[in-house]
Amino acid sequence: MKKALVLGAGGFIAHHLQRRLKEEGYWVRSVDLKYPRFDDTDSDDFVVGDLRDKNFVDSVVDRRFDEVYQLAADMGGAGYIFTGENDADVMTNSSLINLNVLDSCQKRNIKRIFYSSSACIYPEYNQLDPNNPKCSEESAYPAAPDSEYGWEKLFSERMYLAYSRNKGIESRVARYHNIYGPLGSWNDGKEKAPAALCRKVAFADDGGFIEVWGDGVQTRSFLYIDDCVDATIKLTRSEFEGPVNIGSEEMISINNLAKLIIEISGKDLSIKNIPGPEGVRGRNSDNKIIEKELNWKPTFSLEEGVKKTYDWISNQVKSQ
Ligand code: NAD
Repeated sequence: MKKALVLGAGGFIAHHLQRRLKEEGYWVRSVDLKYPRFDDTDSDDFVVGDLRDKNFVDSVVDRRFDEVYQLAADMGGAGYIFTGENDADVMTNSSLINLNVLDSCQKRNIKRIFYSSSACIYPEYNQLDPNNPKCSEESAYPAAPDSEYGWEKLFSERMYLAYSRNKGIESRVARYHNIYGPLGSWNDGKEKAPAALCRKVAFADDGGFIEVWGDGVQTRSFLYIDDCVDATIKLTRSEFEGPVNIGSEEMISINNLAKLIIEISGKDLSIKNIPGPEGVRGRNSDNKIIEKELNWKPTFSLEEGVKKTYDWISNQVKSQ
């Protein structure tokens, strides 16, 4: 039986990932500071602990796992990473986790490690035009991420690739672009735009309005969680090390995303744009490399994914 270690599995993406690995028949150990918030884990072993603690990391990396998925990070949506208030924590916490994980895995002679980097590593100067952002993989340099979260991710992806070159580890590095779906943060200050907007719409009274941060002209693309899990596993088992974008190329403005969610809800609501953290002006995944190297494309449209997400969040709101 193949064995996988999933780090950060109390969180959104890694929880879905551990479920998929269990469905595939893997023995799975999951690790996080906390259990998943909205669901039970499927993992054979769920260890609660702090990956900043080297002794703890050594204790969970106690065998030669076939696959290690490192998704633990101190992160959140725009309200967490773009205000500047959490910069020192974000950089210290995530760097420590990655340093510890690589060292423990190398000592155990583990080969395959997946690392989740982010579209936040891309330079701000290529993302000033909302209608024409550039996020092809090679455009990461000269580096100029717009957040300390992005700088830490860029440093760590280089560290994973350095361990591949020097220490016998086979790292696989993805740059995720806005992953969303059911079972993600929606009301704890760490939620991203799709979940935040679904929550606002679900709470709003018919005939009222919802607030949207910024002028709403800023653009993004969003990848549904099931597609993200597919691409993550496919990359990890491939011979391509990355870094590679895992995202959708279906770019939309934030106001149009809000309108889509309002339409799905069936409510009569207007949009009020208010000042707020909004990140870069435009961002879209560029999937040329992943299509070529892994023959992978997203399968869920934004509308299909948002509908599933809105249904889940409106049920959460109703059950409060
Ligand atoms: P998440 O916040 O839901 O999950 C991250 C998990 O890491 C959390 O459950 C958290 O408790 C855990 N963690 C943090 N510090 C820890 C520590 N010291 N010890 C043990 N566990 C710790 O985030 P997510 O959306 O599931 O994202 C997973 C990964 O993908 C992260 O590395 C994130 O930076 C990256 N990423 C996500 C997105 C996205 O759109 N969700 C986009 C780009 C990159």
